This record gives sequence, structure tokens and C-alpha cells, in this order.
Amino acid sequence: MDRVYLVLDTVNNSIPRQSFDVLKCAAVMAGNDRSRILAIVPGSDCTKHAQSCSDEFGIATIALEHHGLRLPNPDLLAALLDEILTFEGEICMCFSNTVNNAHTVSRLAIQHNASSITAVDSISFKDGTPLFTRSIFNGKCRQVVAPASTAVVATFNPGGFPEPTWVTTSESIPAVRTVRPNITPNAVQPVSLEESSDTDEGLEEADVIVSAGRGIGARENLELIRSFAGIIRDSAIGASRPIVDNRWLPYSRQVGVTGRRVAPRVYIACGISGAHQHVVGMKDSQCIIAINTDPHAAIFDIADYGIVADLSAFVPLVLKTHSEKSKGR
Ligand SMILES: Cc1cc2nc3c(=O)[nH]c(=O)nc-3n(C[C@H](O)[C@H](O)[C@H](O)COP(=O)(O)OP(=O)(O)OC[C@H]3O[C@@H](n4cnc5c(N)ncnc54)[C@H](O)[C@@H]3O)c2cc1C
Repeated sequence: MDRVYLVLDTVNNSIPRQSFDVLKCAAVMAGNDRSRILAIVPGSDCTKHAQSCSDEFGIATIALEHHGLRLPNPDLLAALLDEILTFEGEICMCFSNTVNNAHTVSRLAIQHNASSITAVDSISFKDGTPLFTRSIFNGKCRQVVAPASTAVVATFNPGGFPEPTWVTTSESIPAVRTVRPNITPNAVQPVSLEESSDTDEGLEEADVIVSAGRGIGARENLELIRSFAGIIRDSAIGASRPIVDNRWLPYSRQVGVTGRRVAPRVYIACGISGAHQHVVGMKDSQCIIAINTDPHAAIFDIADYGIVADLSAFVPLVLKTHSEKSKGR
């Protein structure tokens, strides 16, 4: 790629640490040549952060300032990027895979007839053409896509990209540029951003995490998961996204790309299919046990122990066995 744009996420003018993961994707797209990368730090007062990005990573950086960018605003961001960047030649614009960025990417792709590719897990090259791999059908299949256009706008999942091994030095990095395009904020404007008041309730410190997925079927079946966790010392309860989206558990319990990253001694996935977005958050667990009715569930690909069973039959059996053993002592 001739030019690789890297658009960092910011909230209240600060850059969440995990946002820098997308730099690794940009490095792959740029052939580890940092002189081809241009980082963009959007915000309402972000020059300081753009400077530290440039200092830390040795890449050219633009502070893209607009009063409407204090909170994430995907429509406005697309319009501003459109204003300051060129889309000629082979270019790739890299974003982290978030709901807001998927919105920005689709707008830019339509405006510039670029290839929009979202939720990329890995990149390979064939005869110089980048091939993007992503998981579909809840992780059961891997799809490889090639861009049809020379301009690519893509969102990347964190976790699967190597540390850059730069082939160019950072000696002549240009100074950070601050640009302030004068655009009127568009139809949709974010009003507020509320941080969750939930605590993680020991998720990251737990030795064992028993995690509930959509396979538990109903809110009341969480009691089964609680009882299961109750017989395991130093355990905590985690969840996949549908469980927290249903408000059955607080967001602080969500494991995955938009939740917690955990690495307990044992992770027990109960009725979780193994979608990439979940797996990213728990794949570093020392031992993974999966309970699922579907023998082809993707979670079994990474499980150390796989139990093909219905939770509503298996967990009561475990509890009964535990209870009998405890009484026998
Ligand atoms: C931008 C983005 C970010 C995301 N971030 C996250 C994230 O951080 N964390 C996350 O978890 N997800 C995340 N997701 C959602 C993710 O893609 C999946 O949709 C989600 O992980 C699926 O959750 P699940 O495995 O519980 O449900 P499903 O995929 O519906 O799987 C349910 C599983 O339960 C099994 N099952 C059904 N009944 C039973 C039973 N009685 N006993 C045993 N097994 C049973 C089924 O066979 C199935 O495999 C994100 C998605 C996007 C687009």
C-alpha cells in the first residue's frame, strides 16, 4: 500500500490504550514501513495526545480538531477525514472494530468507491494483493476477502496482529500537524457519554471464571450458573455479550473485545458459541472448558476440554455429584 492512514479512537480527548492495537494492523498494511503511515488523532483538543502518539511510535501524526469531536461522532468524523485526506492511489485506512467506526467506514467507502471491509482478524498478501480474513456465522467459518478497489477502508479486531518490526527508522518524523476544518456538525450529534457504574466484581482476579452464554436460554437459568460457580473456590461469573445486552448481568461481566480481557487458570464457557469477539477476551486462559450442545461449535476449537451436553442436564449433575461427595467426606 502506498499510504496507510491509521485513525485512533478518542473519548474526551484521550486515547484508550487498546486503540493503539490498530497500529499493528497499519504496520502490516504498510509492510512495516513507518514512513508510509499517517496517524490521525480526532478530538476537540487533542494536539497533546497526537504529539505523544508521534513521540512514542515514531509516525507522522495529525491532530484533527473539531469542537464536535469531544465525544465519538462517526458521521462528523467521516466528513472531516474526507476533508483532509486524499483517497488516490493504493491506500488503506485502518480503524479498530467498533460500532462507531463501522459507521464511519461505510460512509467513506460510499463517498470514495472504496472497499469497505469490517471485523478483520488477520491479513495476508497474494501477489501483492492484501487478503483479509474474518470470522462469520459466529466463528464457525473463516471468510477471506480481497478488495475490488485500490482504496480500502477497514476495521480490525484486536489481538491477532504481531508487534511491528519496523524496516524504517523514525529519525525524520515530521512535526505533528494540527488541522481544524470548519464543518458544521451534521444531523446526528452525540449528547452524552455515561460511564458504567458497574464494577468488575473480581473478574480479573478470579482463579476460575464460569461464563454464561446465550445457551443458558433464560434469565432464571443464571441461578444454575451461580450454583456452579458457588462450588468452585475463587471463582467469578462472566458472560458473553447477549447476556449483558439482555440486562441479565451487568456490562462489567462481559468478556471479549468490547468487554474484559481475562486470563484465569480455568475458564468454563457455558453455552457460548466461540465467536471471535468473545474469544479475544478469554483465549489466554490457562485451561478452557466448554459445555455446548453443538459438537461443531467454534468454542471447541480452542477448548482444552469439550463437553457436548445440555447445560440444563449437565450442570445439575455436577452439582449433585459435588453435593454427594461433600456429604460423603
Ligand atoms: C463490534 C462487536 C463487538 C462484540 N463484542 C463482544 C464481546 O466483547 N463479547 C462477546 O461475548 N461478544 C461480543 N460480540 C458479539 C459476538 O459476535 C457474538 O454474537 C456473541 O459472542 C455470541 O454470544 P454467545 O456465544 O453467548 O451466543 P450464541 O452465538 O448464540 O451461542 C450460543 C451457544 O449456546 C449453545 N447452546 C444452546 N443451548 C444450549 C444448551 N441448552 N446447553 C449448552 N449449550 C447450548 C449453542 O449451540 C451455541 O453454540 C461483539 C460483536 C460485535 C459486532
